[in-house]
Amino acid sequence: MLKTHHCGELRPQHAGQQTTLAGWVNRRRDQGGLIFIDLRDRWGITQVVINQEIAPAAHKIASTARNEFVLQVTGVVHPRPEGTANPDLETGEIEVHASDIGILNEAKTPPFYINVDEKVDETIRMRYRYLDLRRPRMQDNIVLRHKVVKFMRDYLDARGFVEIETPILFKTTPEGARDFLVPSRLMPGNFYALPQSPQQLKQLLMVAGIERYFQIARCFRDEDLRGDRQPEFTQLDLEMSFVQREDIMALIEGLMIDISEKVAGKTPLFKPFPRLKYNDAMELYGSDKPDLRYDLQAVDVSEIAGKSGFPIFVSNVAEGKPVKVIRAPGMAKGLSGEKLKKLLAEMETIARGAGAKGLAWMALPEAENGEVKGPIGNKFTIEQKLELFEKVGAQPSDILLFTSDKREIVWAVTDMMRQFVAQQLGLIDPNVVAFCWVTDFPMFYWNEEEKRWDPSQHMFTLPMPEDIPLLDTEPGKARGSQYDLACNGYEVAGGSIRIHERTVQEKIFPLIGMTMEHAREQFGHMLEAFEYGTPPHGGIASGIDRLVMVLAGEPNIREVIAFPKTATGSDLMAHCPSPAEPKQLEELQIALALKEPEKK
Ligand code: ASP
Repeated sequence: MLKTHHCGELRPQHAGQQTTLAGWVNRRRDQGGLIFIDLRDRWGITQVVINQEIAPAAHKIASTARNEFVLQVTGVVHPRPEGTANPDLETGEIEVHASDIGILNEAKTPPFYINVDEKVDETIRMRYRYLDLRRPRMQDNIVLRHKVVKFMRDYLDARGFVEIETPILFKTTPEGARDFLVPSRLMPGNFYALPQSPQQLKQLLMVAGIERYFQIARCFRDEDLRGDRQPEFTQLDLEMSFVQREDIMALIEGLMIDISEKVAGKTPLFKPFPRLKYNDAMELYGSDKPDLRYDLQAVDVSEIAGKSGFPIFVSNVAEGKPVKVIRAPGMAKGLSGEKLKKLLAEMETIARGAGAKGLAWMALPEAENGEVKGPIGNKFTIEQKLELFEKVGAQPSDILLFTSDKREIVWAVTDMMRQFVAQQLGLIDPNVVAFCWVTDFPMFYWNEEEKRWDPSQHMFTLPMPEDIPLLDTEPGKARGSQYDLACNGYEVAGGSIRIHERTVQEKIFPLIGMTMEHAREQFGHMLEAFEYGTPPHGGIASGIDRLVMVLAGEPNIREVIAFPKTATGSDLMAHCPSPAEPKQLEELQIALALKEPEKK
């Protein structure tokens, strides 16, 4: 090695030892006869002192070194002089007095500071991702990711799971997104589809008698990207035979608790994880992946509001549309009338963004005898107000936020308002992870455009056994055996018990608008396999990017992926996607028929 120690290693007990370090110049301070260099590598920063009188040659070289130059430094470890220790650095009690310095490589001035954790335009970070990854925060994220994945492997290995790779060049394995296609040169006109998940293959591995499979699997979905989505992403994918959903939930719960506590140093807020039925999650939190780090439940006040003097509430309730209240605890405290109005205007904009026509509110006074503020305060009688406050548990200075609309809009507003209020009131403890299971999802959602049912998870999910007859009569009422795991407002895992009988599987295809002929073309191999003694089985997949993002407290998954893509699916560093060579297209027998880009 070109170094004897790394830059985060030396302590007072090394004093007097000779050391050789190698790394990047994090910072250089030239004080004439003395030059100080903070040398950085993956493990930390060590202060190097170069004294012109003692090491004139090294001093000369050091005076030419700039930020991000790569240096090799040899010297002796010394305790720092009294009063100059740096408590922010792990090596802050020592410094290395250099005798020799070699420049291993020079560096151009980077397009952004590596040594300061400041906001940098993301396109520049992506363009120079190798420099971005040099920054300590990114290195921490990437190392955390490695540790999470290693922990998963060890945890599952210890429980008899076998890691098996499945093909990337495969046939469509739909998870509800568009496929990425890869043209075949040897069979012109034919395409592989990149797997949206290894779903079919892992089920086939159960037919194959593997019983416990897992994989750190790359998945590909060609869909519009958001902060927590990428066109390719990584899942911990697993499948087990002879299990019920409790078995899989217990396995994953144990894994998530251990990873949070032992790997990420976070405290799970609930153990065991609470369980919510899909409908309750939507009614209480407006989301099937609720953030339970804070409480803030929506309370149904339709009965009281329906009798109030506020015409919209009255007519909505008559039409069966609910009126709900989210209580923002103490949010009005100390706010002048002006500030209160401004805050509510901001919230109303958010509510409108979620589809609401407005946002009604009441602000409770600080003192018992004060007045209730807000546009609908006088539309409720005193008795109605008291009943309402009792129902929602109102306290002085609370703001009550009312939504009333179609159920779906009320849900969306609830979700947005909870997040906003929690942020504003600082209700989120950054050291906490709040996991919860969500079950009892509807098996299908109605797709009005295509006039068919869409599977709410995927087409291999078993309905709840007692709901199987509903497939023939009221598919919209059937619940799936799906279980999702949410954490801090994100879905971090999802799975189900699978259909293992061909007859049940064949019922699903027509419901989701697939003719049997098409199903046989796409999934004939599975239907056939299911006739050769398929064990009951089930599984789950956990999005590793998203999980690590949550554990690292990052706002988007690009921060925990070494080389991510932009929202339009491009890699700004390598400039892809990019046109293919005409020769490549010719070999593939592909001719392009490009449309004029639409003018905006
Ligand atoms: N294949 C599913 C997914 O990617 C997970 C599962 O059902 O195991 O979401």
